[in-house]
Amino acid sequence: MGHDPGHASPVPPRSQRGEFTVATDHYRWLDDGRLECTVCPRACRLNEGQRGLCFVRARQGDELVLTSYGRSSGFCVDPIEKKPLNHFLPGTPVLSFGTAGCNLACRFCQNWESSKSRQIETLSANASPQRLALEAHRLGCASIAFTYNDPTIFLEYAIDTAIACRERGIKSVAVSAGYMNAAPRAELYAHMDAANIDLKGFTESFYKKVALGSLASVLETLEYLRHETNVWLEITTLLIEGYNDADAEVAAQCAWIADRLGPDVPLHFSAFHPDFKMRHVRPTSAATLLRARTIALGEGLRFVYTGNVHEAASSSTYCPGCQSLVIERDWHVIGAYAVSDSGACLRCGYELPGVFAGPAGSWGARRLPVRFS
Ligand code: SF4
Repeated sequence: MGHDPGHASPVPPRSQRGEFTVATDHYRWLDDGRLECTVCPRACRLNEGQRGLCFVRARQGDELVLTSYGRSSGFCVDPIEKKPLNHFLPGTPVLSFGTAGCNLACRFCQNWESSKSRQIETLSANASPQRLALEAHRLGCASIAFTYNDPTIFLEYAIDTAIACRERGIKSVAVSAGYMNAAPRAELYAHMDAANIDLKGFTESFYKKVALGSLASVLETLEYLRHETNVWLEITTLLIEGYNDADAEVAAQCAWIADRLGPDVPLHFSAFHPDFKMRHVRPTSAATLLRARTIALGEGLRFVYTGNVHEAASSSTYCPGCQSLVIERDWHVIGAYAVSDSGACLRCGYELPGVFAGPAGSWGARRLPVRFS
């Protein structure tokens, strides 16, 4: 099912352990007879039949398995700017998909219907890696994005899909919180072309209280991606007023990015909308995002964007060489575009950081939900 006749798959076969269930490598035995998952710092310790916090990794006999291989919570063709990635094949369509579960437990989750879903039985069962690559190709997508929930927890499925997509000239994008251990991280990102990492705040207390995670491991992922891979990296911070938007915290985050990652990594400040367990918190205003952007620019970051609000000026790209507007964006729609096919400013020749290949795409703001027959 889902295979393209006449197109040999480059995806190496996985050891099946049941329907939609495959063997994994990332676990170790503990002295007390439990198995510890080593995919993320959560380090779930499992007895027979138990599932990890992410719900999709489980103990089955003497091994840990992934139980959501080949199943998806839905598909949609989006503009790449919606991931958000502003310096990666601008204007092109991306096939977005995800599965169920998540390895963080953010109280403010903006996508909790799928990330918190334990209903994996209701997922589409028609999403083999080969089928996803075929559909992305058929739909004219330049890339596929592992999003809606975090590819960390389904890395084997994401890797195989990326391999099948690369065979068809389609790039792969991870949208992740970056809460992941070193070995599986290297395995996953060897197959990715771009990543948007969600940096949820800049204090350990915020991570611990609100996301049940740790800041240090996310910062490690950011440094790894920037310095040890060729994956194109952008960062998103969802600002929540009164929680992670203090001037000093934003300034510390931006200074760290400038110092440790460099000023060319784009940073997106995104607006919170009341959701999940934080429905009592007010939505983030455009003024708060603009204040954060001003702080970030003051710390030397060159590409700082606002998201989830209608602010065209702060969603657009300006050339660091001549300060002119080079990519105009309005709700993910590209307007003026003064960039060469290889990513240079047409006015002064400054090479913009990112992945540029030809003229801008013309997908626009459309969201096209897709059902695979
Ligand atoms: S990936 Fe899932 S099972 Fe593994 S440690 Fe993280 S939350 Fe636990």
